[in-house]
Amino acid sequence: MTFKDIDQWLGHAKKPLLIAGPCSVESEEQMLNTAQLLAKNSSVNALRGGVWKPRTQPGSFEGIGSPALSWLKQAGMQTGLPVITEVANARHVEEALKADIDMLWIGARTTVNPFYVQEIADALDGTDIPVFVKNPIHPEVKLWVGALERLHNSGIQKLAAIHRGFYAYQSQPFRNEPKWEVFFELRRLLPEVPVICDPSHIAGKSELIAEVCQSALDLGMDGFMVESHIQPAKALSDAQQQVTPAQLQEIFQNLEFKTEAIDDEKLICKLEDLRAEIDQVDQKLLNTLKERIELVAQIGPVKKANHTTIFQMKRWFKVLENRKAYAKDHGLDEEIIHELFQLIHKYSIDVQLGSQ
Ligand code: PEP
Ligand code: MN
Repeated sequence: MTFKDIDQWLGHAKKPLLIAGPCSVESEEQMLNTAQLLAKNSSVNALRGGVWKPRTQPGSFEGIGSPALSWLKQAGMQTGLPVITEVANARHVEEALKADIDMLWIGARTTVNPFYVQEIADALDGTDIPVFVKNPIHPEVKLWVGALERLHNSGIQKLAAIHRGFYAYQSQPFRNEPKWEVFFELRRLLPEVPVICDPSHIAGKSELIAEVCQSALDLGMDGFMVESHIQPAKALSDAQQQVTPAQLQEIFQNLEFKTEAIDDEKLICKLEDLRAEIDQVDQKLLNTLKERIELVAQIGPVKKANHTTIFQMKRWFKVLENRKAYAKDHGLDEEIIHELFQLIHKYSIDVQLGSQ
């Protein structure tokens, strides 16, 4: 796939890209007042505003719909900023294009369904409007890549991705678990596609936005889409996670900007030494894992000879409990060790299934 560089299509954009605006466009006044305050912040490159709102449960505010498109566009024209809204079907695309909306995004609940994405891609055929694609709700990177590919196949080259976290049964302290590793995988698969972070939907609470923004910067993301409302407490959707334009400015002023390039010789040497040690430890880890897998391979036939199931629930719970307790005593993160052993256990089960 070939992509147009984000600098070409967001002409005046400085990196990191910052798209800000309310979760939902609620009224002409709310959109315009928010936009005017946001535009005072020179870091803001574009204005967001949801017009059709996909809500998990019926009965919540589902957006103003088409009339809000002109309020959004108006706010953009008065502040000189391009505007972006969410589209979830061909009718939305048609109306957004008619209202001269500058950019579009596809939401997490739409990216999950290739039928919806294809419908949007077909409706966009022949245009070259920039499109941002949010990750699907669950961490399936191929669906994310697939959505970008479908749009690209329709001739859209101004593409970017938005990382907004993933639904998880237990995602505390966040609303959606960041699962940064899915972003790393997207980078590996589509290195040319800019990826921005949506800290609002990851955090779910305004007080965690700064922390998520800093993590995204530290990981080399290309920008942000942040929900900002003139009076967050009164917002009709996502009230807890929205920040005022002034709070957004403060968050940005306090971020520490870093570059991937390292040019200090001393630092390079120090990093090289530490990395050499890490490589050795990894080697030990792999050898230990190999040793474990060889033992596991011997267990499979023993179970088969005794007509017992491969998966032994009590044993598995004990292993987990024991490894987590050890982790806790030794200052390791219990949840990470839990996930690690889930993966090791999955590997063991696969080996046993193959060895019987
Ligand atoms: C939004 O940006 O307001 C939104 C609904 O986001 P998501 O698709 O990430 O839930
Ligand atoms: Mn929202």
